[in-house]
Amino acid sequence: MSHTKKENIVIRNELDPYENNVRILDGVAEILQLNTHIHERLRKCKRILQVSIPVEMDDGRVNVFDGYRIWHNDWRGPTKGGIRFHPSVHMSEVKALAAWMTWKCAVVDIPYGGAKGGVVCNPPELSKRELESLTRRFAFELAPFIGVNIDIPAPDVFTDAQTMAWFMDTYSILHGYTVPGVVTGKPINLGGSEGREEATGRGVIICVNEAYKFLGKSIEGKTLAVQGFGNVGSWTALVAKEYGMKTVAASDVFGAIYNKKGLDPANLVRHAKSFGTISTYPEAEKISNDELLQLDVDVLAPCALENQITMRNAAKIRAKVIAEGANGPTTPDADKVLFENGIFVIPDILCNAGGVTVSYFEWVQNQYNLRWTRENVISELERHLKTAFAKVAVEAKTRKVANRTAAYIVAVSRVAEAGKNRGLFP
Ligand code: NAD
Repeated sequence: MSHTKKENIVIRNELDPYENNVRILDGVAEILQLNTHIHERLRKCKRILQVSIPVEMDDGRVNVFDGYRIWHNDWRGPTKGGIRFHPSVHMSEVKALAAWMTWKCAVVDIPYGGAKGGVVCNPPELSKRELESLTRRFAFELAPFIGVNIDIPAPDVFTDAQTMAWFMDTYSILHGYTVPGVVTGKPINLGGSEGREEATGRGVIICVNEAYKFLGKSIEGKTLAVQGFGNVGSWTALVAKEYGMKTVAASDVFGAIYNKKGLDPANLVRHAKSFGTISTYPEAEKISNDELLQLDVDVLAPCALENQITMRNAAKIRAKVIAEGANGPTTPDADKVLFENGIFVIPDILCNAGGVTVSYFEWVQNQYNLRWTRENVISELERHLKTAFAKVAVEAKTRKVANRTAAYIVAVSRVAEAGKNRGLFP
């Protein structure tokens, strides 16, 4: 009999990311009749590190930033997970992001555990020199705890290939030789992989295509609304066009836009590069971010941050398919409402797993000094995601559970099996 310890959570906060992760795990532990000690260990993070990062600002003052690296679980291999720079980074968020990495790597069956890092800062307010100093000092603080076969960071919100280049350079200088495989998402000329930048968005659309095939329909001509036009959101829209979809709405932190005739994703990317936002794009009507989430579209892709679909708006969502490009955009309570309303949700740990899958390919290439072609990367990515989607879909159908529950059943079973085989030391 599995034991859930739900009673530990006295006051439940619908928006607490780690509590939400544990709630889903507890439900799945019950279904799987998970061994008590395995369940108890999966409810907790393996290791939590908090660091202070002093940075000399351009005006000569020294600011001390808070940073975290949290390792959730490493039973299936070295840990993997991005680094987020954002003002709202906090411990529960990083813990949840680390746990989601454990489940995500397991659902697509790549040999990694889960970790995540974050620094509380606001990159748009920092100069390039300040950002570089911050990144290098954070890399220095993490250096004793990361490594090619230990823990491999990657980009996340407000971090990119340049951040990874600084990170890799700092780690390499400390070790006296170049270590490309210590991070993924690097620039291609430093050992980055073809297809990595687009991988998460491409993975989102590969999953949407699989969902339509599963539903016996075609993706061609389906309308799409994208919340968050950053790395994941912009690539989701660009790849959606390749598959014949029409992006009718998009947003960023400054606002949302809508055009029922369709928005050209490549033009939106150019506009964002020139003006720092898509919200001023001229060939569209301005709407609010809330309105975007509630549009009557075929597919809604939340690609910004956590807690966007909550009990506040879940009943008002009209999209038929939700493709979670972001991590944790839907709360467990809201997820129940979507399930009851017959909305086909492709859960984050499957839908946005394209990024970590191609990060895995990058790491493999670095280990063997190989360079794969973009075609090879994309076909391997499709193979991994199609296999994972099929496994989750079968689980959902046979057990008559929501897709998220099914994805967690697949992931938790794999992680638990690894833990069982490894045993308890000493
Ligand atoms: P990013 O910084 O490139 O883009 C984030 C975008 O969201 C920006 O356009 C920002 O303006 C927008 N945004 C922020 N708050 C918003 C709000 N309230 N409403 C509308 N838009 C808002 O980050 P990213 O790398 O694209 O990551 C986005 C999400 O995808 C995160 O949840 C991240 O953890 C997840 N994710 C990223 C990757 C990856 O490879 N980058 C992989 C898997 C999951």
